[in-house]
Amino acid sequence: MRSTIKLCLTLLVVLLIAGQSFFTSPVSSQTRSTAVKALVGGTLIDGYGSKPIRNSVVIIEGERIKAVGQVGSLAVPPGAEVISTEGMSVLPGLWDMHVHLMINGHSDYAHWDKTYPPQMEKVIMPASAKQLLMAGVTSARDLGAPLEASIAVRDRIRKGEIPGPTLYVSGPFIQHEPYPGTDYVRWGVKGVDDARAKVRKLADAGVDVIKLIDQDQMTMEEVQAVVDEAHKRRLPVVAHSHRPEEIRRGLLVGVDCFEHTGLATAPEYPADVIVAIRERTAKMSLGPLFWTPTVQGLLNYEYVRDNPEQLDDPSWQVGLPQSIVDDIKASLKNPGQLSYYQITPLRRPTLNRKIHQLLESGVVLLIGTDSGIPMNFHSQTTWRELDAWVNSFGIDPMVALRAATYWPSVAMKVSDKYGTVSEGKYADIIAVRGDVLRHINSLQNVDVVIKHGRRWK
Ligand SMILES: [Zn+2]
Repeated sequence: MRSTIKLCLTLLVVLLIAGQSFFTSPVSSQTRSTAVKALVGGTLIDGYGSKPIRNSVVIIEGERIKAVGQVGSLAVPPGAEVISTEGMSVLPGLWDMHVHLMINGHSDYAHWDKTYPPQMEKVIMPASAKQLLMAGVTSARDLGAPLEASIAVRDRIRKGEIPGPTLYVSGPFIQHEPYPGTDYVRWGVKGVDDARAKVRKLADAGVDVIKLIDQDQMTMEEVQAVVDEAHKRRLPVVAHSHRPEEIRRGLLVGVDCFEHTGLATAPEYPADVIVAIRERTAKMSLGPLFWTPTVQGLLNYEYVRDNPEQLDDPSWQVGLPQSIVDDIKASLKNPGQLSYYQITPLRRPTLNRKIHQLLESGVVLLIGTDSGIPMNFHSQTTWRELDAWVNSFGIDPMVALRAATYWPSVAMKVSDKYGTVSEGKYADIIAVRGDVLRHINSLQNVDVVIKHGRRWK
């Protein structure tokens, strides 16, 4: 008797669980598209740069922002899920314009390139993407990863199958010659026809942007062919600016966005480079010249070397199997001995001057972090880049935030859908306790993350 009851109960539970998943999955996808949420009470920084809105109300319907207003004038619709943002800053989801989903802070590139390509698509890139999203990054530009994996991960995220930022991917780098053992992610070009063919192959596969590096080692005709072919397919071109000659050539051929601040330990950009940048930024018809300086890794290296506690933070281990975590940890045992960083203490003092040279030359700077490079984890870099701009270079916090929200959406030509908290845009919104305009590094602990209307945190 007792066992019959037990059996019946078990059956009932099994039926309930089965029934629930059977009935709720189609229903929940429907409620997701029409569900109404209201963020109520916090101070809204909408991304346009104007004065923050106190006691804000943001109404989200499905994936989009339905209305933005204030308590007392914008009513919360009956039945809406209310999320209190009292005491918080509310702002557009962050963009990180220079991430590397295919790496996770490991210090030995040769080992990584040999060991992990088979796990890129299913394990490594999805783990990186999830870490970025949980850090409040709702959009990211991934600059350099295997082609098929880049497209697959981007599309799975867009379909809502796995968590991550909305991705804009370049797939493989275009350069003169791949470094040994890296041709799965770096494509060399030999001549103008080959340059055009490689760009066409990337465009046909569906990339969002072309990444060009070492353009000072290519012929000018090859560099021009890469940019022309990309522009013909309406793809922006981002290019390294590690060496002055890369900048000179990039400007001549019409590169849209430069990356990094230069490998040299020279204290500033050469005068002729600054003249060329100013000539370019004076041409309004070409639109802004964008630049992603990616300084946080350089700025923080000596601190992390001497205070390595953050290397133990579990946030960067999310989604990674223990074996990979152990491998990364082992590679970072002696941070002071990493060859990657030996010259960094000489480069770091040049950053402030270079950043201000760029700002004074009319460049629109973007937040990007090189996340994934040795000791720089996806869960920690974006807020640190913002912190570096504000607290080390004296950049206005509103300018820094717009470089992580509004301007990236312009650079990627999606400002009609992303980049601000305003009516009609996708509901990519984060909220964090405290006033980010006074303490920008509050962003290291984001409390609320909403992407396309779906709450992830
Ligand atoms: Zn990079």
